[in-house]
Amino acid sequence: MERKIIGLFVLVALLAACNGKSKIEADILIVNGEVYDGVETMPQSLSIAIKGDTIVWVGDQNDKEVVATKTIDAKGLIVSPGFIDPHTHATNDLDNSKHSHNKPFLFQGVTTVTVGNDGSSPYPLAEYRDKCQELGVGTNVVALVGHGTIRKQVMGESDRKASKEELAQMQQLMQQELDAGAFGMSTGLFYAPGSYATTNEVVALAGVVAKNNGIYDTHMRDESTYSIGLIPAVQETIEIGERANIPVHISHIKCLGVDVWKQSDSIIKIVEEAQDKGIHVTANQYPYDASATSLKAAVVPRWAESGGTDSLFIRFQDAELRKQILKQTQTNIARRGGPEKLLVIQAPDTLLQGKNLLEIAQDLEKKPEEAVFDILKQGYIKIASFNMNPYDIENFMVRPWVVTGSDGGSGHPRKYGTFPYKYREFVKERNVLDFASFINQSSSKTAKILKLSKRGVLKEGHYADIIIFDPNTFTDRANYLDAFQFAEGLIYSIINGKLSIEEGEFTEKLNGRMLKK
Ligand SMILES: [Zn+2]
Repeated sequence: MERKIIGLFVLVALLAACNGKSKIEADILIVNGEVYDGVETMPQSLSIAIKGDTIVWVGDQNDKEVVATKTIDAKGLIVSPGFIDPHTHATNDLDNSKHSHNKPFLFQGVTTVTVGNDGSSPYPLAEYRDKCQELGVGTNVVALVGHGTIRKQVMGESDRKASKEELAQMQQLMQQELDAGAFGMSTGLFYAPGSYATTNEVVALAGVVAKNNGIYDTHMRDESTYSIGLIPAVQETIEIGERANIPVHISHIKCLGVDVWKQSDSIIKIVEEAQDKGIHVTANQYPYDASATSLKAAVVPRWAESGGTDSLFIRFQDAELRKQILKQTQTNIARRGGPEKLLVIQAPDTLLQGKNLLEIAQDLEKKPEEAVFDILKQGYIKIASFNMNPYDIENFMVRPWVVTGSDGGSGHPRKYGTFPYKYREFVKERNVLDFASFINQSSSKTAKILKLSKRGVLKEGHYADIIIFDPNTFTDRANYLDAFQFAEGLIYSIINGKLSIEEGEFTEKLNGRMLKK
């Protein structure tokens, strides 16, 4: 009996202590900011305390006494989870000591990037991870395993069905790469060699990923009318999700080219019906009306390049094949809106940069489809292809299952501008999207899709990936003629509890981590 009374007394004393101001110690304390936590639909007045790499307290400043080494006064500023980019082409920046800071993304407020999209990934992943880790990375990195990369290892560039043995070998390599820390697989079914794979092959590999609790990310077989068509490509994606029992994520969702404009309504209906059936379908989107890809992938028929670029030019020397190739190339150019809609943004001959295919053809006094093969002889040519309709862009953007993804690679402004551009254009100027939806679609929703734990939400116990920006000045600076301008208006970026951007300046600290599933 006596013991019970003493126990009660201790409990009452504890409760009393909790009601009073308890004290915590922190490395960084953020006060006075307008906080979007990544989940809520309205901003809140909250303070955030960070210790080590973790958010240790979120709450009302008056409730707690926090002793912090550094206090950031965020008055008039937005405090948000660091942005998470589910689709980038930063692979070759991150294992390069000159670029592993990842500043193009960092200045947009991105604290985590994904690599290995579109079916192409660094291989072997374990080696890549070690190298990046050793150099240090400016943002966190999530890796996916590229289906095309695995297929190439086993089957080269060959345009045929995989044999049973080859499929088993691919499954084994898939497991090896997942064991190295990948969060899932990606496909580039539009590109060679991914385009040579059947749906069954993809399902068999996705099955391995599903067993590892990973995700399926895809650049679909067709975003236009190249092969099976846009809507059948969405249906194929959903079929893969259903048969392999895996969450599927459509990368850079779009209606590419006049032939498929306004199909967003049908696609949304198909996706939401699948969701109602319990299939996890989501998508990411960049907010620009031009896509970017290689000139070869955009306009050269896939069969013509089977075996690689050398094989393409061998076929091109054959008069009969040449006629067919040129005819289909002409069709592909028309599909993308004509030669004037294809702007060269990267080429070995830098004089071509900033010119469209029509201008280049005129300079060469050739037809556009002929000019393509003239300039492809130089090597890799990248184009911005203006092929999207604003109706579809906005239609997709406002869906709760569509998140922000840059698809950022060199030459297109999206690498330096996606997140602030979306904010400036679609939140601030045109009111297509409300502020909280923009934040949530750039943080917590993306973390959930990638199955990234303890990131994307400002919450006690989560990693401290936090950005602070000025809503009046946060903006992109990159455009098609100068795609290499850092974004502005980001005042602080904190990654894993450490300052990467302070008072708008890069701290030269590489605070990112190679994340492991
Ligand atoms: Zn892609």
